[in-house]
Amino acid sequence: MKAKLKPCPYCGGKAELYKTEWELGKRGVPNHPYWIICTKCGVNTQPTGTKRAVIKCWNRRTKE
Ligand SMILES: [Zn+2]
Repeated sequence: MKAKLKPCPYCGGKAELYKTEWELGKRGVPNHPYWIICTKCGVNTQPTGTKRAVIKCWNRRTKE
């Protein structure tokens, strides 16, 4: 499934969804493996627990 990401709100660059593997299994810490980063200027979201939530977070930011 291809995630639908809006362009970066700051520079219009391409946004990419990333998922960490190394974050998984950290003891006592909720897993927040997903985040989105602009490939051009590097602006990013906070790490988020689900793909849906992080995409929502990013797309909402573009409206501000
Ligand atoms: Zn950008």
